Amino acid sequence: MASSTAPSAEQIQIVADQVQVHKFGGSSLADGFCYRRVARIVTEYGGASDLVVVSAAGDTTNRILAIIDAHQQAQATGDGTGIAQVLLNQLKKYQQGLIEDLLTGDRCAEILAQSNHDFARWQAWLDGKEIIERRAELLSYGELWSARLLSALLQQQGFQADYIDARTFLTADDAPEPHIRVDSSRRALLEIIAPRAGTRFVVTGFICADPDGNSLILGRNGSDYSATLIGSLIDAKQVTIWKDVAGVYSADPRKVKRVSSLASLDWQEAEELARLGSPVLHPRTFQPVNRERMVIAVRSSLKVENQQTRIGQYSDAEPQGKVLTGLGEVVLFRVDMNNAHLVEQIEALELTPLISWNEIPQQHAFYAYHQNHLDYMERWLEQLEPADRDAITPLSGYSMIALVGHRIKECAHYQTFAEELKTQTLRHFSVAPEQNSAVAILEQKLDNGLLNRVHSQLFNYRRSLGVLVVGRGNIGSAWLALFRRLRERINEQMDVRIIGILNSKRMWFDYAGLELTDWEQSFEQLARPYELSKLIPELANAPYDELVMLDLTDAVAVAQLYPSFFANGVHIISANKRGGSAEEGQYNEIRTIQHEYKREWYYNTTVGAGLPLNYALNDLRNSGDEIRSISGIFSGTMSWLFENFTPEVKFSDLVRDAKQRGLTEPDPREDLSCQDIVRKMLILAREIGLKLDWQDIDVESLLPEHLSELPLDEFMQRLDEIDTDMAALYEDAQRTGKVPRLLASFARQDDESVRARVGIEYIPEGDMLANLIPGENIFVIYTDWYHEMPLVISGPGAGKEVTAGGVQSDLNQLLSRLSHKDS
Ligand code: ADP
Ligand code: ASP
Ligand code: MG
Repeated sequence: MASSTAPSAEQIQIVADQVQVHKFGGSSLADGFCYRRVARIVTEYGGASDLVVVSAAGDTTNRILAIIDAHQQAQATGDGTGIAQVLLNQLKKYQQGLIEDLLTGDRCAEILAQSNHDFARWQAWLDGKEIIERRAELLSYGELWSARLLSALLQQQGFQADYIDARTFLTADDAPEPHIRVDSSRRALLEIIAPRAGTRFVVTGFICADPDGNSLILGRNGSDYSATLIGSLIDAKQVTIWKDVAGVYSADPRKVKRVSSLASLDWQEAEELARLGSPVLHPRTFQPVNRERMVIAVRSSLKVENQQTRIGQYSDAEPQGKVLTGLGEVVLFRVDMNNAHLVEQIEALELTPLISWNEIPQQHAFYAYHQNHLDYMERWLEQLEPADRDAITPLSGYSMIALVGHRIKECAHYQTFAEELKTQTLRHFSVAPEQNSAVAILEQKLDNGLLNRVHSQLFNYRRSLGVLVVGRGNIGSAWLALFRRLRERINEQMDVRIIGILNSKRMWFDYAGLELTDWEQSFEQLARPYELSKLIPELANAPYDELVMLDLTDAVAVAQLYPSFFANGVHIISANKRGGSAEEGQYNEIRTIQHEYKREWYYNTTVGAGLPLNYALNDLRNSGDEIRSISGIFSGTMSWLFENFTPEVKFSDLVRDAKQRGLTEPDPREDLSCQDIVRKMLILAREIGLKLDWQDIDVESLLPEHLSELPLDEFMQRLDEIDTDMAALYEDAQRTGKVPRLLASFARQDDESVRARVGIEYIPEGDMLANLIPGENIFVIYTDWYHEMPLVISGPGAGKEVTAGGVQSDLNQLLSRLSHKDS
């Protein structure tokens, strides 16, 4: 520990001119590697007499708080100190692990001994043998340990270094935000450091002491404030705040993709950003600063070479929206405007609200506060007269989004910001009194999706789309392969990333985007069990402007969740027919929710796989034509089976073969029972505006009743049992020179009802329908305009490649809709 002697005026001047302050937060000191890096930065980028302010290593402060909570809980409930003891052991292991990792020999032994001494005191406290009343005193250990260890490391590396416990010089009067006694603190600090030029001092952030020496803390994340405070006590020219980010960004990089680091911020802008609760800088950081003299640099301790943000006098810069910031939870305090003395009191508080406003008709004044300030506000409420307290109503369930930049109203970003928020339910929107920010209070949760969308609109980045791939079977695998091939082209429109691949049991998920090289292998290693219904509500937080779910399954369970996907902001592309062909009530529910949440739903591959059927039908209808009937072979599977069927082959062998080639549904009975075709008919009919439901379709199934309920394996073994009937069918057709084909048709009747049928028909051998290429679909379309000769669309209607291509075509449509700014 440092000793003190009185400094001369000359020494004080040297300190002001030469000493800079560096501050390292917990994330910069998380492990041994980080400590070494910090030691290197301090010695390479700092002078020999610089001050280094440190936070507690990693999440030490949180760990200490957890121990205190567990201890209090144990005392309240009379349970043992089990949990607190476990947490304390873990903390000791972590702290001593750092010491053992970083120090060697006698120095290691010495610091370990001090650490053991500290932890013995903690143990005594936990065992009730020693009373430590102040949380602040327990919390102070975090910073003390970091300072002691970093200075020992610097000494071990051969530098002249020492550490200072800030409680030995920084005095303050206790208050929700302690009032610093500036003069005495300055004197005390200079007494320690001025006589020892050439020594690097590591100083504890976050803590100070009252005049009696009791520990006080400067608020969570308070060591940014410690650093500028200490800088201003010695009148330093520069304070560098080293973070895990390369400066202040256009938004929180943990929540928003593609943020950019700002070269400079004006004092007022930085202060406003901190005031609005951005964790990047503590709100009091700027209070003590001499703005004429000091510059604050924010830079990355992880990537020293990256850009840094300089905070200083830059107010002549063009007005510009610079940082988008948000708070997930804010509390409104509603006060009766006529209670003048209460309004006066709340306005006189040291803590300024995020924003305040009056609603004249109801005579209400509103003050919005950050969730973190509730403690402060509650303490204030407690000391009010009961009548006054009753005149204040706290309202929760609100959030905040704000754009910071000086003379905000004069810049184009402001217009975009206001415009973009029109789609949200706003409780209030206004410009802060100093014109440094526009603040919106939302009557809803603030999710990262909204932050990303607004950020993209403001700063004109390419919009982003997160893709959730549900189903990793034939189509899923083929589409992923296709996507990898086309990725570059796709990414020209939007930044498209796969955020999850799911099969029915497990998912491999990462918001950052999955690396698709060897994805099957990664899936095997990394996929975890999940529940889709629980995953969906989480998706709103995905850091993307837009999300889409590709339903490449055949699962009813997935289709049932479509409304939930839409309601959580996710677009849908389905190759699964279960949604589009759901019975009427459920189908209408899906459509209603889809429209309510303005989401897109494409399912063009569900009929005719990749064929451009939907384009033709929509185009005709949009141009004024009406579809009268559609008939043909709608099933690629059935086409393949029947075009290959001759008296020489067994039908069951064909089914097996088709299943192997991935041409059937996972359970071929879906095809044989014609259910799959019925689904397509329903989808087609709905697409062209016909009212058709399951019971309206006359279905002739190829699947004998007795095979319909068996487990799939057993069914496949007993497949031969269909051969006799199928052979008889063929023979029957041959008697009149025809062949059997599975045809579907539906037609609009004069009374607007619909006649629909699917089943076997005998076709003359020379007919077009009897001579398709196996797997080919054919749609024969009669319309008002095409009534003498039909419009015919034919081509392959099944197969994983064409279907995957069709899914991609749907995705392309979605991309072109979404990539336009105003979509
Ligand atoms: P420290 O290591 O000093 O304790 P914090 O973790 O408290 O640092 O604060 C830095 C974090 O603040 C960053 O990791 C980042 O996620 C977050 N952050 C929020 N908004 C911004 C922003 N606009 N620019 C940079 N970082 C931001
Ligand atoms: N260690 C303290 C905290 O976690 C102070 C800081 O990190 O700035 O809040
Ligand atoms: Mg912090």
